[in-house]
Amino acid sequence: MIYADNAATTALSKTALDAMMPYFTDYYGNPSSWHTAGQKAKEALENARETIAACLNCSPREVYFTSGGSEADNQAIISAARLGEKQNKKHIISTAFEHHAVLHTLETLKKQGFTVELLDVGSTGNVTAEQVKKAIREDTCLVTAMFANNEIGSILPIEEIGGACKEKGVLFHTDAVQAAGHIEIDVKRQNIDMLSLSAHKFHGPKGIGVLYAKTGITLTNIINGGAQERGKRAGTENIPAIVGMAAALKEATGKTEENAKKVTKLRNELINGLSNIPHSALNGDTKNRLPGNVNFCFEGIEGESLLLLLDAKGICASSGSACTSGSLDPSHVLLAIGRPHEVAHGSLRLTLSEENTEDEIKYIINEVPKVVEYLRNMSPVWKDLLSGKRQFVL
Ligand SMILES: *Cc1c(COP(=O)(O)O)cnc(C)c1O
Repeated sequence: MIYADNAATTALSKTALDAMMPYFTDYYGNPSSWHTAGQKAKEALENARETIAACLNCSPREVYFTSGGSEADNQAIISAARLGEKQNKKHIISTAFEHHAVLHTLETLKKQGFTVELLDVGSTGNVTAEQVKKAIREDTCLVTAMFANNEIGSILPIEEIGGACKEKGVLFHTDAVQAAGHIEIDVKRQNIDMLSLSAHKFHGPKGIGVLYAKTGITLTNIINGGAQERGKRAGTENIPAIVGMAAALKEATGKTEENAKKVTKLRNELINGLSNIPHSALNGDTKNRLPGNVNFCFEGIEGESLLLLLDAKGICASSGSACTSGSLDPSHVLLAIGRPHEVAHGSLRLTLSEENTEDEIKYIINEVPKVVEYLRNMSPVWKDLLSGKRQFVL
């Protein structure tokens, strides 16, 4: 099996697993307990916090453990909204291609009387600091813009966007779930006030994440209960997962450049190989792109059928197409970069990691064109395109 869906989730690294094991078997205490078993767990918890803080260049006191990227996004945005409300600031700026964890939280806030402005991401998927600066108003309480996009891999100019927010005195949050462990993060240099990350996107375990919130930002609880996480996130800490996340982030941060170089080479080979397919187009930017991201639209086919046939050939991939996401509309990201509905339906996302090999890339480059051709040959839409009844877009 070839795993090429690393934007959905990644394999747990051996380092992370080894670090976690003793916290399942031997050190199972509750960090809130006063006894030795509890204190062992507490020590692991605080060590992990320090490790993660060092990777992000922040203080351990600014690191809050959550159940993952979604929860961190929710808490960051809701906290900023509650702070804004107090000053009668109810305008929020975001982008059209955010993850649903951000977009759906913003939808909820809209129902509570907030105005949400989603910035246009253009045809390659980018947002400039200039756009952000122009959109900031007197009553803006938050700018939330993703570090890197999970579907098309675009990397936003976070340092500049953060700088614009700083200049205007507006809180800046970034969903860095696709960036953490893959590209460099430094919350101070990049002017980030709040940041979300998720362990399972960088070879850590699932169900654990971090919300970084700069000192001085008062968080609003999403989960109420005990006094864990400085009273801001209740619930007994998931020590094995927290330890595993810290180990995975440290490992990934230590070889960001090396991995990026290796994965970028594989990615470029894959992009070049698939570009030969007629009536296809790469989604996203060619340069300003996550090392492992490949995303294409193929005209005249459905993404679901493509995934099914690729799976039968042992290739695990993903699509921004309708049924996979359980909705009738194709990916909001592909629509945001201007792909028409029918073209967005024929998308394929292959996301690589440093564990993929040259041979796997060669195999994918060999198989995808065959599958695309096979599907086109039985597609009524393709027939219409060939006969001129419909116009080609790509
Ligand atoms: C995966 C992902 C999330 C959600 O993270 P979970 O830990 O799965 O909740 C949020 N944002 C982006 C960009 C993602 O890729």
